[in-house]
Amino acid sequence: SPDPTSYVRPFREGSKDDKQLLGGKGANLAEMTRLGLPVPPGFTITTDACRYYMAHGENPAELDAQVDAALEDVEREIGRRFGDVADPLLVSVRSGSAVSMPGMMETVLNVGLNDETLTGLARKSGSARFALDSYRRLLQMFGRTVQDIDADRFEHVLDRAKADKGVASDIELDEKDLEAVVEEFKAIIEAETGAPFPQDPREQLRQSIRAVFDSWGAPRAVIYRNAERISHDLGTAVNVCSMVFGNLDDDSATGVGFTRDPATGATGVYGDFLVNAQGEDVVAGIRNTRPLPELGDVMPEVYAELSGIMDTLEKHYRDLCDIEFTVESGKLWMLQTRVGKRTAAAAFRIATTLIDEGVIDEDEALRRVSGELLTRLMFPRFSDEGERELVARGMNASPGAAVGQVAFDSEAVVAKAAEGVPTILVRRETNPDDLAGMLSAAGVLTSRGGKTSHAAVVARGLGRTCVCGAEALEIDEKERVIRIGGEVIAREGDVLSIDGTSGEVFRGEVPVVPSEVAQYLAGEVDGDAEDATDLVRSVHRIMGVADRTRRMQVRANADTPEDAARARAMGAQGIGLVRTEHMFLGDRRHHVEDLVLAADGDERQAVLDRLLPMQREDFRQIMEAMGGLPITIRLLDPPLHEFLPDLTELMVKAARADDAGVQRTEREQKVLDAVRRMHEQNPMLGLRGVRLGLTIPGLYGMQARAILEAQAQVLAAGGEAKVEIMVPLVSSIRELREIRREIDEVREAVEKETGSAVEVHIGTMIELPRAALRADEIAEDAEFFSFGTNDLTQTTWGFSRDDVEAGFFFTYKDRGILLISPFESIDQYGVGELVRIGAERGRSTKPGLKLGVCGEHGGDPDSIHFFNSVGLDYVSCSPFRVPVARLEAGRATL
Ligand code: PEP
Ligand code: MG
Repeated sequence: SPDPTSYVRPFREGSKDDKQLLGGKGANLAEMTRLGLPVPPGFTITTDACRYYMAHGENPAELDAQVDAALEDVEREIGRRFGDVADPLLVSVRSGSAVSMPGMMETVLNVGLNDETLTGLARKSGSARFALDSYRRLLQMFGRTVQDIDADRFEHVLDRAKADKGVASDIELDEKDLEAVVEEFKAIIEAETGAPFPQDPREQLRQSIRAVFDSWGAPRAVIYRNAERISHDLGTAVNVCSMVFGNLDDDSATGVGFTRDPATGATGVYGDFLVNAQGEDVVAGIRNTRPLPELGDVMPEVYAELSGIMDTLEKHYRDLCDIEFTVESGKLWMLQTRVGKRTAAAAFRIATTLIDEGVIDEDEALRRVSGELLTRLMFPRFSDEGERELVARGMNASPGAAVGQVAFDSEAVVAKAAEGVPTILVRRETNPDDLAGMLSAAGVLTSRGGKTSHAAVVARGLGRTCVCGAEALEIDEKERVIRIGGEVIAREGDVLSIDGTSGEVFRGEVPVVPSEVAQYLAGEVDGDAEDATDLVRSVHRIMGVADRTRRMQVRANADTPEDAARARAMGAQGIGLVRTEHMFLGDRRHHVEDLVLAADGDERQAVLDRLLPMQREDFRQIMEAMGGLPITIRLLDPPLHEFLPDLTELMVKAARADDAGVQRTEREQKVLDAVRRMHEQNPMLGLRGVRLGLTIPGLYGMQARAILEAQAQVLAAGGEAKVEIMVPLVSSIRELREIRREIDEVREAVEKETGSAVEVHIGTMIELPRAALRADEIAEDAEFFSFGTNDLTQTTWGFSRDDVEAGFFFTYKDRGILLISPFESIDQYGVGELVRIGAERGRSTKPGLKLGVCGEHGGDPDSIHFFNSVGLDYVSCSPFRVPVARLEAGRATL
């Protein structure tokens, strides 16, 4: 059994559940070892060691001795010794953290080779050429990743060697050529570092381990974690594994595979392989690979064994697995497996297929999809109508339809993105340094590499549309043009359209149409219909599971009858927030001006009387659209100045008029005076919400009357209307009490006028810290609470919600102080604590008090899980987020 204090674990001592400690790769290597699959012996240095290194700037004192002991263990098992001149053991050193960061981290292969062990390897393998090629790979990888030497320096030497000889590929370089390359590589290392390449195998190993630790903090890894919201504290494990060689001879091979199609979810064996090659040749997309089933023709026995193992893994993990393998002189070795990355479409299809296959139950299926994946399926695709010019075909690496200007590097993509111009990042192949461009581009297009190339894997992870391996394209990154057969078909800035679902590349802009899943979710396509696609059926089925499972209701924020109807079609169970302010904009704005300018109560009442019928009609239409589902209408909230002309503009205009000797009209003067009087330095903390209702007598009363009269109209016409009136920005019970009195008076009046009882609930937003803290008292006068987490976030953090995302957040994210804006995903520990307190105290006064949330967070998956955990009754979000919220509210209960 494992020694819990050790920083080093042999593969046979771990399991797939040890991801935090061993990283994903290490945990799965351990699992495969336990399953008795052919894994080359090795060990994992734990993430504890990496965290120690990050904290102290040096390795734990006992690490060296523990590594030595584990290495001895491997030596015994294999019968070869590290550094043995006659028959050396070589190892690979690879990173592997708890969360997968494809291509982000470092790998060094062939550690243990030096000028002397080289001859041993040559003799044992029977090929001096092979030994030299392995040595030059070590020098190259060690120089690049451990010693930080520019990769081009090595590539340049190889290119020159091939050019001198007049050959195209590395394989054609012979023993002599490689001898020269090795000497040149050693010279580069000595020149760059001031010291010769370390000949001591242990020193190579120590430095490689340290380089993996260091790679955790490399800028590209930090960018990736920021983008993917991965904590910077996890650290990486280091896997040290005895080398097996896919490049030993023509009975050797290396490849990657999937137990199902990661693009569509279809059943079958997918993958790529190369004969006589080493692992990074496949993933780097440098050589064009062959489809995995063809391995059956080349090495039938190996392929049979591999198929059996893939089957075992799928059954064991009960999910799509991806694998990396190597065949060394006819013997199969498993180098990696994990539950594989997949597209959003594949995730839904695999989840429902596995239910049908009896492998998982419905709850598990729901766990395996997410709101984020659903969102990806809602993106548009290319229209089938109209002309288009197909210029090339590649692999459908990551689905979607992307249209953008051609950009040949990350800098160009990022520059265009800053101007709001969408781009297609076009590269021969991508590498981790292209990440910034891949993040900002609409799509990624490469001419080399298969579905498992860096471009494909990373694009899928980011949900970015990607076509890879479009071999017809000659991508000239220097001249910044794309050619086909020598003819230029696009220059930087020209528009291309790429289809990540079919792999097609079109010249110019192809029109896009909505996705079938979006149409289904909008209620335009029947998920049970005969002709529904497999994907739509899968989504429909999973949505059904989510709806049956969830405890929370899902409502929408909608201010117009159109939005209300859309929300309902998307499955909203009511409206959680009607923001009434839009009803005062546009050509009604002058009424608000009149309201502000009113000299006395009579004038003000006259304005309110003009507004009343307009508001009544607004509300009536929304009630009709919702047909009896609950509607929470919020009384006017934003600062009045938003409806008035801008002070600075007004002053400039007035000054100009004065200069020109033009007399101001009486009204102009009054407006100018009013705007001056009402100007606020911090309008978001000023005269808005309930403060407005208390300051302008009759305003909220008018709105309440419009709501109640609209309801009476709808009911009288035989319809249904369920309304809730909500008071914004309350921080004290006294504010709410005053407004309630006003609304109650209106209610009595309307009841008298219509002769029938009015049914309406009156509640409040909880969107200020004081309201959350005093929620027990506020609950005395509220029939429901709706948490306004936008303002609650603003006032808890003291961040201006209007300025901050364009401001210093960039620095905060860059420095890892914030992984994500608290306006996007709820800050559970601060703002969330106030929500929890508000909920508890509110219900301590009124058990069963209805609680909802209507801030932006209502549509954010992580936030939804949090709201479920504190017992809210519903979330309310924008209509397009409703399906995501339904799905996540279901997942939150699992
Ligand atoms: C809120 O503050 O969270 C809220 C929903 O109100 P608004 O965004 O309109 O201020
Ligand atoms: Mg608010």
